[in-house]
Amino acid sequence: MTEKKLAWIQDAMDELEESGLLIHLRTIESPPGAWMVVDGKRVLNLCTNNYLGLADHPRLKAAAKEAVDRYGVGPTAVRTIAGTLALHQELERKVAAFKKVEDALYVQSGFLANQAAIPPLVGKGDVIFSDRLNHASIIDGARLSRAKIIVYEHCDPHDLEAKVKEHLPDYRRGLVVTDGVFSMDGDVAPLDKIYEVAERYGLMTMVDDAHGEGVLGEGGRGIVDHFGLHGKFDVEIGTFSKAFGVVGGVIAGKKIIVDYLRQKARPFLFSNAVTAADTAACIAAIDVLSESTELVDRLWANTDYFKTAMKELGFDVGQSVTPITPVMLGDVKLAKQFSRRLFDEGVFAMALGYPTVPKGLARIRVMLSAALTQEDLDFGLEKFAKVGRELGVIA
Ligand SMILES: *Cc1c(COP(=O)(O)O)cnc(C)c1O
Repeated sequence: MTEKKLAWIQDAMDELEESGLLIHLRTIESPPGAWMVVDGKRVLNLCTNNYLGLADHPRLKAAAKEAVDRYGVGPTAVRTIAGTLALHQELERKVAAFKKVEDALYVQSGFLANQAAIPPLVGKGDVIFSDRLNHASIIDGARLSRAKIIVYEHCDPHDLEAKVKEHLPDYRRGLVVTDGVFSMDGDVAPLDKIYEVAERYGLMTMVDDAHGEGVLGEGGRGIVDHFGLHGKFDVEIGTFSKAFGVVGGVIAGKKIIVDYLRQKARPFLFSNAVTAADTAACIAAIDVLSESTELVDRLWANTDYFKTAMKELGFDVGQSVTPITPVMLGDVKLAKQFSRRLFDEGVFAMALGYPTVPKGLARIRVMLSAALTQEDLDFGLEKFAKVGRELGVIA
């Protein structure tokens, strides 16, 4: 029996169920490797953000274990009181060198990195120019700042410029913020053009490189490296939870900004530091990527192989230019049925529908990984072909 004062929640949950939007959690009992155990079944993993297979890399695991022995399991303090470990500082130095920026700040997650970085830079009386499809964490960070938010059309520097011209004169200062790689379509922001507009009008610049680090640029140095814009973007937000395979967020960029955020960023001041084990694993991830481009190269070879084969089979794989591969199906019920049938056949690939993607653009999103072998990819392709024919998606 639901209490009377909480009955509205039951109504809201029923509504979610009826509209097919209720989220059901799957239970994972393995590392997110090429194959994983999901709801008790061993399936091919085309679902996680483990782009480089680092999540269960022996060097990362060894580093985490050693850190537990040396530092214990939790810092029990925020960074600004007694929580800053030598490991945090080592990671910040290493990630700054890797990304070729002046300084970096390690925080608890990519989500929090946006909440940490945006409000100190802009507030009441300021304006943020934000891409229409920016990640939820950018939107929330922008809202927390209390600056005016002006949305410009997706990846459209002309619209950005028009909006800047119209609105900037009414405000004290402005910030332009964009995702680097957009996670639903795998397209990439025109960072060079956005930078030109920002320069022309004296805007501060921020890019969230969550799906670009470990993927784009030389050896996975990210989207700024991909565009050769070193030293030009003021702030690069990043995460260690995707290609790097661990957890934690990073705010990288100009020293003056990072120094200021150490004084002002609320998640840094008021929430416990990341554990030694996670931090040590992040350091090992940077080390692995600094030593060799092998994993990044394999990720791209796998991406090219899979996408080419899917197109040959007759699937619409959208406009992605990254390892994010949307398999466009249109109808959300079809996408869900496709995903269920793939799972029966031993392939784990999620269906995405409204409101995650626009209505009528439902899809299966395949996340490629360096962890997949040729045999794995062929297995996935065979199952996509089988289910695709069965459901009349391909001939
Ligand atoms: C995944 C993602 C985040 C969140 O990163 P976490 O470290 O998982 O909190 C933030 N921004 C973008 C663009 C992302 O894709």
